[in-house]
Amino acid sequence: MSDLLLPWFLTQWQRLCAQHQADRLPHALLLSGPAGVGKGRFAQALANLLLCHEPTAAGPCGHCHSCELRIAGHHPDLVRISPEAEGKPIKVDQVRLLIDHLHSTAQQGGYRVVIMEPAEALNTSSANALLKILEEPGQNTLLILVCHQPGQLMPTIRSRCQRIDFTTPGVEQAVAWLVDTLALESDRAEQLLRLSHGAPLRAQRLYEGDVLEQRKKLLTGLADLLRGRAAVTDLALQFGKFDLLQCLDWLNSLLSDIIRIQLAGVSEPVVNTDMTRMLQAVARQAGSAKIFALADRIQEERVSLMMRQNPNRQLLLERLLLQWSDLAR
Ligand SMILES: [Zn+2]
Repeated sequence: MSDLLLPWFLTQWQRLCAQHQADRLPHALLLSGPAGVGKGRFAQALANLLLCHEPTAAGPCGHCHSCELRIAGHHPDLVRISPEAEGKPIKVDQVRLLIDHLHSTAQQGGYRVVIMEPAEALNTSSANALLKILEEPGQNTLLILVCHQPGQLMPTIRSRCQRIDFTTPGVEQAVAWLVDTLALESDRAEQLLRLSHGAPLRAQRLYEGDVLEQRKKLLTGLADLLRGRAAVTDLALQFGKFDLLQCLDWLNSLLSDIIRIQLAGVSEPVVNTDMTRMLQAVARQAGSAKIFALADRIQEERVSLMMRQNPNRQLLLERLLLQWSDLAR
């Protein structure tokens, strides 16, 4: 079994392999589900299997000519298409190049696989261009669209693909995998998973990047601000270097915990269990109107951040931090 393949996707994998053995694979697959659960790895595992000339029950052989080309990283029959920069669309030129490539190059005697990720980055013109390939992809060609938000895809694209749904795995399985993969204590794995909305690969990235360090600095700064030990402008300057959407996400999750403590009368936060004391204190002191107002503001900033190219990060953070510090007054 390929180590790309995650244990929680075994059913989907076996079903596709059976389809492949019966020579009944479609031209296009839509792998759909939340980000960070492993759809991209699933796509790669499938591509590896289809490209191999001598696959075994355990997966690709790893030593045929085709496997060698793939492992060396330049297999002509494996094409990956993604936006040129994160958050940008997949351009129509990229799809046109793909069409030319599919028409002009000879296959290496096996399957040809295109992995497009994330497919929701197709804009109207690139999606229209892609429709041409979806109608007539050619022999033994498989398009794999990896999509975190299928609702954003054109219906005509969706309807031409066989859709496979992926969900977040059960907590127990995900924690076991994180413990095993990252050599972690299970408490720590559980916390990472909660912070990642149950998506194990997102939890892995959180652990491996300096993102957790950023979260720690953010939380420390927020606590200092409540105690009057830090200045809004200094903190805004510091946080301005962080991943802003991620910061908003964390702030949002703090507020959700506070709201839960206030409304449900419980003492423990659900997500930010490492910040229990601060969250309890805010829940005691702050009026719910202020908390909901800040939650709304965060939501607005999230939306505008995704639409605008260059927001004034300093100003945005200063406004949010001021509103946060006001919670304890
Ligand atoms: Zn092989």
